[in-house]
Amino acid sequence: MPDLFKVAKFGGTSMADATAMRRCASIVKGDPDKKIIVVSATSGTTNLLTEFIVSNGKEQKVEIAQQIRTKHLQICEEIKNQAEVVQKITPILDELKEIASTNRIMTPMLRDEVLSFGERLSSEIFTAILIEETGEDVICFDVRKVIKTDQNYGSAEPNVDQIAKEYEAHLLAVTENSRVVTQGFIGSDDNGNTTTLGRGGSDYSAALLAEAADADVLEIWTDVTAIYTTDPRIVKTAKPITEISFDEAAELSVFGAKVLHPATMVPAIRKNIRVYVGSSIYPEKPGTWIVKETKSKPAISAISLRRNQTLLTVHSLDMLHRYGFLSKLFQVLSDHKISVDLVTTSEVSVALTLDSDIHTPGKQKLTDEVMNDLRSFCEVNIERNLALIAVVGNNLEATAGLSGPVFGSLIDVNIRLICHGASSHNLCFLVSESEAEGVVNILHNKFIDG
Ligand code: ADP
Ligand code: ASP
Ligand code: MG
Repeated sequence: MPDLFKVAKFGGTSMADATAMRRCASIVKGDPDKKIIVVSATSGTTNLLTEFIVSNGKEQKVEIAQQIRTKHLQICEEIKNQAEVVQKITPILDELKEIASTNRIMTPMLRDEVLSFGERLSSEIFTAILIEETGEDVICFDVRKVIKTDQNYGSAEPNVDQIAKEYEAHLLAVTENSRVVTQGFIGSDDNGNTTTLGRGGSDYSAALLAEAADADVLEIWTDVTAIYTTDPRIVKTAKPITEISFDEAAELSVFGAKVLHPATMVPAIRKNIRVYVGSSIYPEKPGTWIVKETKSKPAISAISLRRNQTLLTVHSLDMLHRYGFLSKLFQVLSDHKISVDLVTTSEVSVALTLDSDIHTPGKQKLTDEVMNDLRSFCEVNIERNLALIAVVGNNLEATAGLSGPVFGSLIDVNIRLICHGASSHNLCFLVSESEAEGVVNILHNKFIDG
């Protein structure tokens, strides 16, 4: 069989400590086709860096920088070539300490610089462990030379054409001679400033590199054995899925299944790259293959839950029998770079959902400026603490008798908005955050367990 080109990504829990990293190294060791290894920060580090960014005083920042130093140096103590790896990460740790002790103003650009430290540290340490475990020549590559993005710090948009060019210029030849370990989540803009792709973005980085490399397979190694019929933390009877289509996996991730970053499937679909999701703790257990065409096409294959949703309802009598209102509304949202997920309209009002985005510092969406722009031509109402539930499957728009049983099983639940028919792969609706897990359990019980 000819050689395959695989890009393998290991997430935060897989990078938790030296033992977890050695498990990942043994997964890589057995497979010479895994040419590019993309790693996340060690678990909890990006959260610590987020705390660093939002903390007020210099003391707190210095304390967090010290915590990160101790945590990473402790992992290095378990590496034979400790001195060499410590020498590599010390300048990175010193840089973070310097940012803390000078208490610089946290501009969006500096925030992304700070967020990048997790992956910069873990990739150096994992490279050392991989060299130790395999005896191979492994290169730790700075992915910022290849993952080029716009300047939307915190959730930067990659420039796919430029990534293809930079890949050819900087990485192609390297992968021909050695295995490469590199960072997920981070990139750089045209001026060379560090950017990040949004929380959980390492899956997306790996997919972008797989696209640039024209890889055969993208592997996502995580803390669950597979993609499940729903988040196994919410429903105890959730089952692993052995095979799922590109479209279903894309819907699941967009509608909240954290196991894949929402944009991961986009490059994979563009280049028809098969994706495998497996566990770095139990690599021998069967994982999920995500492929273009599946053998089985169940009407309902999985259920996902996306938390922290905001419902924005705009109302204007001017909308009655007029044209142009929707265009005006979406122009304001576009001017403020607000991404909308679901939309429903009536004759005089429009309701739409957006992520509350409480986890990205400085990324509050419905700012005073947005509200003022909207209120200049309509009444605006905001509801928060909502969650979006998506029933994912096949031919849902053409399946008779689906919505009756779905909503019939939720008679005591207040459903705020329903979207059905736009995609053949999902039926979604909005409920209050407090009821959401209960709703997922009811639906899973009825349509998947049953
Ligand atoms: P990593 O650090 O490897 O990127 P994540 O925490 O981002 O891992 O994603 C894995 C988590 O995704 C699982 O622990 C699980 O709780 C959650 N998850 C949500 N929905 C699903 C699903 N349908 N199948 C599997 N895991 C899911
Ligand atoms: N380290 C980043 C995060 O925690 C990216 C990732 O893990 O995918 O969000
Ligand atoms: Mg993740």
